[in-house]
Amino acid sequence: MTATEWICRTCGVEQAIAAEPPPACAICTDERQYVLPSGPAWATSVDLVRDGYRLEVTELEPGLWGFRPEPKIGIGQTALLATGTGGNLLFDVPSLVDPTALELLRGLGGVAAIMASHPHMYGSQVAWSHALGGVPVYVAAKDARWVQRADPAIVTWDDPFEPVPGIRASQVGGHFPGQTIAHWTGADGAGVLLAGDACAVRPDGNVTFLRSYPNAIPMSPLGVRRIVAGFDRHPYRRLYDNVAGRLSDDAAAIVRFSAERYLAWISGAHDDLI
Ligand SMILES: [Zn+2]
Repeated sequence: MTATEWICRTCGVEQAIAAEPPPACAICTDERQYVLPSGPAWATSVDLVRDGYRLEVTELEPGLWGFRPEPKIGIGQTALLATGTGGNLLFDVPSLVDPTALELLRGLGGVAAIMASHPHMYGSQVAWSHALGGVPVYVAAKDARWVQRADPAIVTWDDPFEPVPGIRASQVGGHFPGQTIAHWTGADGAGVLLAGDACAVRPDGNVTFLRSYPNAIPMSPLGVRRIVAGFDRHPYRRLYDNVAGRLSDDAAAIVRFSAERYLAWISGAHDDLI
């Protein structure tokens, strides 16, 4: 069998080029993810394109584009393309290299840098880099051991960092030690946080903080405080999580309120209600 690009169907992260997939997915066997009772399952990009997988592209706001796999593959994140005069950043990475989305990306000015918020969002970052002419893939040094497909395009970085001029990345920790957010000014200059899953927007319009979203393992109080302090290093009014959840205004105030609510509950301040 020829060597190929294997993608884990559960987390969507690409693996080292090999004739056969690995016996297990290192990302999924960690407590923040899961292995299905049926065991690991693998796909190649060729399989996915053949089976009709594609990326649905949406302009989320002027200058910010979302790329969501349809049908869902892996975690199903909405990758974000933040555009600007200093170059475009692809933040969190699709598992599927969709030829149509690739052409659209090129039409939007291409991609100057690729960066994931954390290892669950690596997707097919090396395959995307190759498709885009070898653009750098910036990986937080603290989390580099989770990279499954090594490549010369991968560059490790430490906090703080500008993957492209005008977009600032910083590591807030929590879910992973190198958990990364990116701050983009937005077309209107209001300030937009690309938050990955350092927090997650919930149905009541607030956010929560977890170590594991699929397994609902909570974040510690120290982790929450660090995340909020990391967010507050940047001026921002809007926020996007990694599944296109958004706070459309007053995002910093909502995050602070949500953190206080979370900390009150986890510290037992409302134990008279349980
Ligand atoms: Zn996996």
